Amino acid sequence: MQKLLIFFTLSLLMYTLIHSYNRSRRDSGSEPAAAATHWGYEGEVSPVHWGELTEDYLQCAEGHFQSPIDIESYRAEAHPGSILDFKYHPSPVDIVNNGHTVQANLEEENVLVANAHDYQLRQIHFHEPSEHRIDGVIYPMEMHMVHTDSTGKLAVVGILIKEGPPNEFLNTLWEALPEHPEEHAHPATSCDIVHLLPEEHNIYHYSGSLTTPPCTEGVEWFVMGTPISLSKTQIDKFRKIYHNNNRPVQENTEGRVELVY
Ligand SMILES: [Zn+2]
Repeated sequence: MQKLLIFFTLSLLMYTLIHSYNRSRRDSGSEPAAAATHWGYEGEVSPVHWGELTEDYLQCAEGHFQSPIDIESYRAEAHPGSILDFKYHPSPVDIVNNGHTVQANLEEENVLVANAHDYQLRQIHFHEPSEHRIDGVIYPMEMHMVHTDSTGKLAVVGILIKEGPPNEFLNTLWEALPEHPEEHAHPATSCDIVHLLPEEHNIYHYSGSLTTPPCTEGVEWFVMGTPISLSKTQIDKFRKIYHNNNRPVQENTEGRVELVY
């Protein structure tokens, strides 16, 4: 009888130990990551609520270096001679409709050199209307070229899009835009990335964040002062898939804007 009692006591002790070990593993986040918390641009998951959806998105509400911003051109400090070099070349793309935007992923080496620092171009995606504004002006669309360096630090080039003549360099992407979430497209032709840039390279630089959850800060932003153009038909084609997928402008209380060339 005594043996049986000891056996049960030990069993209970083991169970308690294992159970609390598992719980602490879960709490410390060493379990496989759960699916990202759902967010969007409307209703209960709209940008004003992002910071409340999960602890992981707290920076969306509490950050001091948040993006996008309304760039006040007269307040930007001019830094002529800053080195910004686009070493892009025609590249194959994997286009995906990710449920928030249409995104073209790149594998090949396309380097942005910013202040003697190398960043690799990872993906290009679009917002409608623009997220950044210049002197209060909202543009019909904005293209984001997302780069990372070898340590994972982010640099994003923002290119505003106005309505004008059609842009043939976007055809590779536009002819294959996947209409439904989770859909992929693999265009047969390469995307001529360098020709997606405006000819004039006056650029607003500031320190900001991702404009989507988790709103991670420490992002080097380079917003082109000159827009590129897409035709009304091209803009409408994107609009039929996504519209109003733009985060409102934020009070970036710490980031200073520089004008670089
Ligand atoms: Zn973006």
